[in-house]
Amino acid sequence: MATINKNYLKLQGSYLFSTIAKKVAAYSAEHPEADIIRLGIGDVTKPLCPAVIESLHKSVDEMGGADTFKGYAPDLGYEFLRNVIAEKDFHDRGCDIAPDEIFVSDGAKSDCGAIQEIFGLDNKIAVCDPVYPVYVDSNVMAGRTGEYDEGLQRFKDVVYLPCTRDNGFVPEIPDEVPDLIYLCYPNNPTGAVIKKAQLQKWVDYALKNGSIILYDAAYEAFISEDDVPHSIYECEGAKGCAIEFRSFSKTAGFTGLRLGYTVIPKELKAGGEELWPLWARRHGTRYNGAPYIVQRAGAAIYTDEGRAQVREQIAGYLENARIISEGLRSAGYEVYGGVNAPYIWMKTPDGMSSWDFFDYLLENVQIVGTPGSGFGPGGEGYFRLTAFGSRENSLRAIDRIKNL
Ligand code: PLP
Repeated sequence: MATINKNYLKLQGSYLFSTIAKKVAAYSAEHPEADIIRLGIGDVTKPLCPAVIESLHKSVDEMGGADTFKGYAPDLGYEFLRNVIAEKDFHDRGCDIAPDEIFVSDGAKSDCGAIQEIFGLDNKIAVCDPVYPVYVDSNVMAGRTGEYDEGLQRFKDVVYLPCTRDNGFVPEIPDEVPDLIYLCYPNNPTGAVIKKAQLQKWVDYALKNGSIILYDAAYEAFISEDDVPHSIYECEGAKGCAIEFRSFSKTAGFTGLRLGYTVIPKELKAGGEELWPLWARRHGTRYNGAPYIVQRAGAAIYTDEGRAQVREQIAGYLENARIISEGLRSAGYEVYGGVNAPYIWMKTPDGMSSWDFFDYLLENVQIVGTPGSGFGPGGEGYFRLTAFGSRENSLRAIDRIKNL
């Protein structure tokens, strides 16, 4: 008789966005005239930039020519893309990453979720609280987290790293030494960044303890301040303890095209064993590569014109973030993030719970955001707004909140 992977039954909280959708649908049904502004989504809204579209058209045509048609992509991804990534994302920032340490994929979510497969089930993971849920859930599915404690709202075998306003949403080193440490900066959901000296401490700690840092830099393109590392490999020794994930989703609007990459340095080892060959094997066995046309589209954002166009898009989203953050502040709210990230993390007023504030905003000003508690107990009392809407809607939302 077939049986299921019972670890799946331990999964929690996957209802966040469906609960939001249900509440919004119920409200719309009762108030069909309501003009709802959605600032909860983590998806982009701006169209692909002209350089990407041009590249897509060109490569689609190539797929129709007998001499230029492409079938399966090389396991690690096309060299034209890995070369330009190594040069522009790493060498230009002083990081010594080689093209064959870059594994091109269909996005950071797949890789962040799958990376745990190459580590033993006895590894203890550490995650930030609040957290992007994929890191926890993928380890729950694998059976690495133990049972869920309803009271604490935490898995028994996971080390949670509180990210609070007191520590600037950058975790302290924990008492118990974890084996795998998930860090994400710029951060979803808090919009916080980690300074280079702070990240160096984590790198030194991981090197000292033989831990591996799984560094999710999906929002790297939003970094606008100096002294914020764009890659963990800017820290000394990081090639000996860190894997990095990148995404084209928020950088260049590829959420629907799908493209990302993972960096595994050749020298990186866990328990004396090299990790690169394991991920290469995993990639080759379970994955058949991002489409040629999408990899060509990805390469287009590294040309001078592509770069300028993508920067302009990001500047637009960051301007929305500024409008929302400053507007909220002037309305008396406590606000974080929104400077080096598309996320604004606000404290709910008067000790309201995250869900109460969700209902309050929906009912009174028809604005939809994301309750912070959906990202873990550490997010209770906070609320996430995103800058991915239009400038007009960001302005309208703030007007409404100011008049509350
Ligand atoms: N990592 C973080 C922190 C994210 O917030 C997201 C998307 O919301 C992803 C990864 C997923 O990126 P991708 O679209 O490349 O799968």
